[in-house]
Amino acid sequence: MGKLDKLAEITGYHVVEHLYQLAHWVKGLKVVHINSTKEGGGVAEILKNIVPLMKELGIEAHWEIITGGDLFFQCTKAMHNALHGRHVVISERLIREYERTNEENAQKLGALLSDADIVFIHDPQPAALIAHFPDRKGKWIWRCHIDVSRPVRSVWRYLRNFVTEYDASIFHLATFAQHLPHPMFLIPPSIDPLGEKNVPLSELEVKAVLSELGVDVDRPYVLQVSRFDRLKDPIGVIEAYRMVKRYSPSLQLVLAGGGASDDPEGMAVLEEVKMAAEGDPDIKVLYLPPKADRTINALQRGAVVVLQKSIREGFGLTVTEAMWKFKPVIGGDTGGIRLQVVNHHTGFLVNSPEGAALRIRYFLNNPDKIDEMGKKAHKFVLENFLITRHLRDYLTVMISLLHGLKGRLELV
Ligand code: UDP
Repeated sequence: MGKLDKLAEITGYHVVEHLYQLAHWVKGLKVVHINSTKEGGGVAEILKNIVPLMKELGIEAHWEIITGGDLFFQCTKAMHNALHGRHVVISERLIREYERTNEENAQKLGALLSDADIVFIHDPQPAALIAHFPDRKGKWIWRCHIDVSRPVRSVWRYLRNFVTEYDASIFHLATFAQHLPHPMFLIPPSIDPLGEKNVPLSELEVKAVLSELGVDVDRPYVLQVSRFDRLKDPIGVIEAYRMVKRYSPSLQLVLAGGGASDDPEGMAVLEEVKMAAEGDPDIKVLYLPPKADRTINALQRGAVVVLQKSIREGFGLTVTEAMWKFKPVIGGDTGGIRLQVVNHHTGFLVNSPEGAALRIRYFLNNPDKIDEMGKKAHKFVLENFLITRHLRDYLTVMISLLHGLKGRLELV
């Protein structure tokens, strides 16, 4: 049984049938995805899941990454922060390194990219590749995973020079879209319910994983899973936990995450978090290795409540993952978290550590609400944020770019 058939058991067969009908239009085409890391972070997570499914649908799908040195990733992390609205200065030297690295990667990936039918370029890191393919054959799409609703203008103006060259761009939400001279599509990300990170686990396995990590399985814990990044506000999570701990002494906090090879700030933030957690053995700061999918799965299932207290967030796949596991999420009132956490229904949106603390206390005092809102959260993900919907959107974009709006596409 192929993976699509297994997905059909979750989504209903008509959903997968429609994917086959759409795929008929792009079968055999060469589709290339480019980003800047194979592991760590949401983009890698999505590509890991979606590329094999494109292949199963008969598309010649490829996934390659661009490589670069420390200066390059310093530059792209600064760009990332600036696009999220944080004021940073990016020196000429870093910009030159950005352009040089893109040029180098263009040479390396030249054969694959120049005759691809569709190229998806994910985020700013590889955005400048397009400048080196003036005779490209296919349609190039810039796929933005960042909340660019309030970018630092100078940085966006710079990046925009490259982005305007693309045939289309894709954003998660309408509020992220920018003025661009080409078609723009709104496509939120998704999770794979059959991946190791999301498959059902027995209670026994969950407990075994937790014990191994040093979590006391007989006491409740709140959880945030994230790369160690200031925009995820791990310190704010610790503050919220400390406020609740006064009233619920048995509560534990787990902050779990690893690094991503394209994020040079991770280690410094991890140190900040460890310092903030010092003196309280009930705060577990776990630095996860790559490919810790089953561990993350168990942590999310075992938590009493899941937090994602980001200050800025493109989407927040960790929110989707927790909701799929019947957990209501207390999330920062920002970006893609707003699309998932329907305030008071699938979780709570918060703007401060105090707000988060209040909502944690509410859940601890009303466990029936965890059940009720958790069920709604699961259903919301089932209907909106599974990989089948994501695939369908990508197929539709590819068809519309390659075939224009000629005729009508009917799904039966
Ligand atoms: N993740 C992971 N290991 C880690 C930290 C995060 O596998 O140590 C995963 C997490 O489960 C989620 C993705 O990376 O699937 C993070 O995506 P999200 O959109 O939440 O944030 P991003 O890192 O892209 O800003």
